[in-house]
This record gives sequence, structure tokens and C-alpha cells, in this order.
Amino acid sequence: MAKERVPALEGWFTMDEQAPALLGSRCTLCGTYSFPGETHFCANPRCVGTEFESVELSRRGRVWSYTDARYQPPPPYVPAEPYVPFAIAAVELAAEKMVVMGQVVPGVSVEELSVGVEVELVLDTLYEDDDHEYLVWKWRPVVAHKATGGR
Ligand SMILES: [Zn+2]
Repeated sequence: MAKERVPALEGWFTMDEQAPALLGSRCTLCGTYSFPGETHFCANPRCVGTEFESVELSRRGRVWSYTDARYQPPPPYVPAEPYVPFAIAAVELAAEKMVVMGQVVPGVSVEELSVGVEVELVLDTLYEDDDHEYLVWKWRPVVAHKATGGR
């Protein structure tokens, strides 16, 4: 029997596996985006907004900073056995210009990353038990297309 695929974090992202999106919030007063979504206070210290709408954030962004996880990462990351190092990227979202951390998909090492590389959001298994696969968002480099001389 196939395992049921469920979000490791309820309400943090859509479960559209073809085109998943992070779920953030947008302040109705000043327009500031937050991820994870705000419910009480605006992330903008100069704003007194207390109402937020739920929004799907950009599925793409550019690497702003990155590192490899040489230590055991904090929850919700569950280390595999044996522990396999992976890359973590801080990605500036295309439209919101907000930085969101995430694990980079398996098989992509820090040597293949650089600041400014375009990445897109995918869902991948964080861990599993007997009945479920728990999914989390990860960043996957967008395959660079050959320059065709335009733009
Ligand atoms: Zn605000």
C-alpha cells in the first residue's frame, strides 16, 4: 500500500505537488509579506497593522546565501541514517523580495550553488513512518537554458 503523503508542517505550503507554493501572509495595511504567516503583529516595525491575508508566495527566487549542514539541524529536519550532509539555501523570493530558508534537494551540493542562482520550490520527503511520507519544501536549481542571444 502506498504511503499517504502529508505535510510535515500543516498550513505552511500548498500540497500541489506539480506547483507547490509557500503560504505566507500579507499585511492589509502596509503590504509587508511574512513567512510563516503572521496572525497578530506586522513584521514591519513601523506598522501597526493587525489584519493579514493568506497568500501563496513566489515559487521561484534567487539564492541569497547558502551553506552545507555539517551539524545535525534543528527540527523539523530529521537526519537520515546514516547522516547525509545536505545544502541549505536562503532564497530571496522573486516578487516579495523576502528571504526564505530551505533545504536544497538531495544531490545538489554547495559546490553547485552560488549567489544569484535561480531556484524553484518543490516538495520532497522530509521523513517517513510506516504509514506516511511527511513532505517539506525544498529548493531546486532551475536548469539553465542555453543563452539564445536574446535579452
Ligand atoms: Zn503592516
